[in-house]
Amino acid sequence: MSFTDEQLERYSRHILLKEVGTKGQKKLLESRVLIIGAGGLGAPAALYLAAAGVGKIGIADADAVDLSNLQRQVIHSTPDVNKPKVLSAKEKMTAINPDIEVTTYQTFVSAANILDLISGYDFIIDGTDNFPAKFLINDACVIAKKPFSHAGIIRFQGQLMTYVPGRGPCYRCVFQNPPPPEAVPTCRQAGVIGAMGGIIGSLQAMETVKYIIGKGDLLTGSLLTYNALTMEFRKIRLPRRDSCAVCGNTPAILEPFDYEEAVCDLPTG
Ligand SMILES: [Zn+2]
Repeated sequence: MSFTDEQLERYSRHILLKEVGTKGQKKLLESRVLIIGAGGLGAPAALYLAAAGVGKIGIADADAVDLSNLQRQVIHSTPDVNKPKVLSAKEKMTAINPDIEVTTYQTFVSAANILDLISGYDFIIDGTDNFPAKFLINDACVIAKKPFSHAGIIRFQGQLMTYVPGRGPCYRCVFQNPPPPEAVPTCRQAGVIGAMGGIIGSLQAMETVKYIIGKGDLLTGSLLTYNALTMEFRKIRLPRRDSCAVCGNTPAILEPFDYEEAVCDLPTG
């Protein structure tokens, strides 16, 4: 492909970077990224990836915009309340960049549809807000050999890691199983500071761009944690576990499955 004058201007600050250049920008325009969850994490990730010119972006979310979402889900506006989140998100993304194609999936992601959903994409962003969804996305991506970005946010804390097949641990290597329901705070009680989604969701967009252009070090084999109150980022090295139930040497999980209905609706979405 060759760039139009408008594209050369739109992406000029990328093209100036030796790590991106026209070659990297072409990779971005030809890439396909699926964002699961159009909430606190998905909002900044979707906006930055749209602006960056990721050519095909899928966005999956079953919910409609609620007034209580607007404190952090910056892709949605007050007039969007009650509108399906995926449609509200698509409007903002295509307004930023008409170069890109946005496909919406207004559906709950489950074991029944996840392999189909992710099959057409090069990289997946987990922007969901509950443990069953996070384990489902992990297992499906490991089984389908798809790289993905995991993130979670609660209160003043966030965490992030990147899975790439054959390079380091998966989410299940680190967390093994969802916590028991009684161990998890009910999320409407827990709360989350709005800018936390902006920080961690933007880091997910950053990992996605680096994966696509093939530059820099990804958070494979490390979990990045962020505490906003102490302003500390920590990078914890984590090995792949040979005994992991999904990516280990003799995996017990050979196809994605649904845990019991989400016990906790973490306010990350
Ligand atoms: Zn694993």
